[in-house]
Amino acid sequence: MTALEQLIEALKRLPGVGQKSAQRMAYHLLQHERQAMGQLAAALTAAGEQIGHCQRCHTFSETALCAICADAARDARLLCVVETPADQAVLERTGSYRGYYFVLLGRVSPLDGVGAREIGAAQLLQRAADGGVEEVILATSFTAEGEATAHVLGDALRARGIKATRLARGVPVGSELEYVDLGTIAHALSDRR
Ligand SMILES: [Zn+2]
Repeated sequence: MTALEQLIEALKRLPGVGQKSAQRMAYHLLQHERQAMGQLAAALTAAGEQIGHCQRCHTFSETALCAICADAARDARLLCVVETPADQAVLERTGSYRGYYFVLLGRVSPLDGVGAREIGAAQLLQRAADGGVEEVILATSFTAEGEATAHVLGDALRARGIKATRLARGVPVGSELEYVDLGTIAHALSDRR
């Protein structure tokens, strides 16, 4: 493969980027952003090396504990389960949640062989059982896979005597949390059951 082909292949790994867009990006970089190419390469390397996962909630973090887990002022009785760090960021932006989080490593997808084990259910159960958690809020997406994930985790939590609630309806069916407006999410959160 030529260097150009390698660049295009690498860009195609980004979400929503196909052959055409990858080509356009590659030509744009080469034509107009020679200097930025070095910065981009350095930033990618640094991010890959320095950003790991918080050992408590699994979100992206450059320190052993992320800023939220390290914040003792939050409400330790509440633990909110989300699918991705991006969903966690959305819930934070609503400003209406003061508990802690647990970030799954994906969502249940039986067709792809992704079950409870693959998304870190065991770690969640362990986290939910440790120190003062009174309620686990399942804030997975309202897609079929997000619903399946909430169902599997809810059953596992309840079987261990841990209260599990789900975001209220009102979030449109089929939506990824990331794209729902903040007011709707804040409402779904306060109206959970
Ligand atoms: Zn954390």
